[in-house]
Amino acid sequence: MSNTGKIEKAQTEFLKDRPRLGLDDEFRFDCRPGISCFNVCCGDVTIVLSPYDVLRLKNRLQISSFDVLSRYTFIPTGKEQPFPVVFLKMGEDENKKCPFVSDKGCTVYADRPWPCRMYPIGHASNRTAEQPLGEDFYFLVEEGHCKGHDQDRTWTVRKWLEDQRTEEYDRMGEFFRDLTLHANFIEKHQVLNAAQRDMFIMAMYDLDRFRRFLFESTFLDRFFVDPERVEHMKKDDEDLLEFGFLWLRYALFGEKTMKLKPEAAKAAREAVELTDKVVPKDTVEPKER
Ligand code: SF4
Ligand code: SF4
Repeated sequence: MSNTGKIEKAQTEFLKDRPRLGLDDEFRFDCRPGISCFNVCCGDVTIVLSPYDVLRLKNRLQISSFDVLSRYTFIPTGKEQPFPVVFLKMGEDENKKCPFVSDKGCTVYADRPWPCRMYPIGHASNRTAEQPLGEDFYFLVEEGHCKGHDQDRTWTVRKWLEDQRTEEYDRMGEFFRDLTLHANFIEKHQVLNAAQRDMFIMAMYDLDRFRRFLFESTFLDRFFVDPERVEHMKKDDEDLLEFGFLWLRYALFGEKTMKLKPEAAKAAREAVELTDKVVPKDTVEPKER
């Protein structure tokens, strides 16, 4: 079974007996300093980071994207893994504490990753090769150590999402879901090669490097990019990340999200060896979707 198949199977197994929640369904929960389990959930926990999570952490910590990735994350290398997955690296202490937790709580609270905001609400999509459209849904995560479920406060899912300000993450989250649940991964079981994995990490997570790739190479001589967009991307990480989604759809799947300038297209056709270094081979002449 491919890795994608294994992930689908594990996800189906995990979600099998969990009641699904709609936006107006209620649950009981409260989390606050003083609760006996305060901070217990901020250690030895698996947190997958989206590109927007890393962007927020980078700007919060005022360090480079490379430093965020090297200090606070790890990216397992699995040959069968379709694309790289970035995890928040827990500490090496006995409790494997999150690097951002303190006695007073989360030190990056306003920019904490999306999974930390959502908890105890989970969000899943059951798109599979057999069911490519699938559906998105919510479910309640209940863990023994979490006393939040014993409290009196009641929420609807909608109210919880508003309170946690998840809408700030929605737009980029949707782009990322569309990319990682792309038919090439889900239906065709595409697995990125080493060069494509590196490009994926650069365009999604290492935005400072991606900016250099765009502005300190011949990229803008080769591709049409709206000048206003160029100016925004020089300063704004969100604009840059949004462009990263377009670039990856072109570079990885051959979609027409980028347009080569005529002279570059001609040169690319005539100099395959050179093109291999600067543009992925199968994207020289983008196919229709
Ligand atoms: S980022 Fe903050 S909320 Fe999330 S696990 Fe770490 S300390 Fe806890
Ligand atoms: S374990 Fe639950 S209630 Fe306790 S701090 Fe974590 S989320 Fe809040």
